Amino acid sequence: MTKPSTNGVTIALEGKVAFVTGASRGIGAAIALRLAQAGAVVAMTARDRAGLHRTEAAIESAGGRAWWRTADLASGAQIRSVTMATLREFGRVDILVNNAGLTFPQRVLEVGLREWRTTLDVNLLAPLLLVQAFTPGMIERRSGKIINISSQAGLGALEEHASYSASKSALHLLTQTMAVEFGRDNIQANCIAPTVILTDMAEQVWPPGPRSEAMRARIALGRFGKPSEVADAVLFLASPLSDFITGEVLSVDGGFRAR
Ligand code: NAP
Repeated sequence: MTKPSTNGVTIALEGKVAFVTGASRGIGAAIALRLAQAGAVVAMTARDRAGLHRTEAAIESAGGRAWWRTADLASGAQIRSVTMATLREFGRVDILVNNAGLTFPQRVLEVGLREWRTTLDVNLLAPLLLVQAFTPGMIERRSGKIINISSQAGLGALEEHASYSASKSALHLLTQTMAVEFGRDNIQANCIAPTVILTDMAEQVWPPGPRSEAMRARIALGRFGKPSEVADAVLFLASPLSDFITGEVLSVDGGFRAR
């Protein structure tokens, strides 16, 4: 298997168990593949079996090992059963990637209770519950990486994203609280905040047209991102190369915030 490398430094995650949420498509599928290419065994979850099968097949054809269970991360009971199944299977999780997320584009005056609660449950509460399940083992082993995928919409306001922005900006402070509380246990907790990345979610929020062109024009590199480019940043934060980085919100945004 070819290992991703930077300047001749190979990132090797052999012997590590990674858990990736939302791995059925988009950014999560790219993250799962990248971590597996680096040698980690990857446990995955999402609701869509067919998507998880596809990611598993991509990992296996790259020579890696994947395992998955379906779960609706809006359900505390399903989160409990997927975390218990993972710990039964592998005994531990070394790298937790909270990637699953959703958005219901709505203006402030239109935000519905159901959409608000689902957004906060999946984008914010699920990462907390997963950290509560997997971090005690990291504390015992004095080693662990927590990587939460947030968004530029958690750093600056975006029309029609009230619930989403609230969930992602709260995820930043939740992550920083984790960094502070788990620092002495040698656990690093960081966020990645992408701009528009070309996935199903981006198709939903940024269909081709003048609005998406205006968004693209604000990105210094003049293009939207690729799922693999977020996965590369995750690989860095999952690796020993980032052992002195914690409580950070890393923008993967082509220079969107530089303006
Ligand atoms: P996507 O293509 O819509 O995929 C979302 C993933 O989350 C899917 O695997 C989906 O799996 C999973 N998911 C959603 N609701 C779930 C639930 N209730 N239970 C379990 N899994 C659930 O989105 P994406 O673009 O890859 O986004 C991934 C992450 O990046 C999200 O946190 C998103 O907020 C963030 N992000 C994306 C962009 C962008 O432009 N794409 C920009 C900034 C941040 P199932 O449907 O199979 O359950």
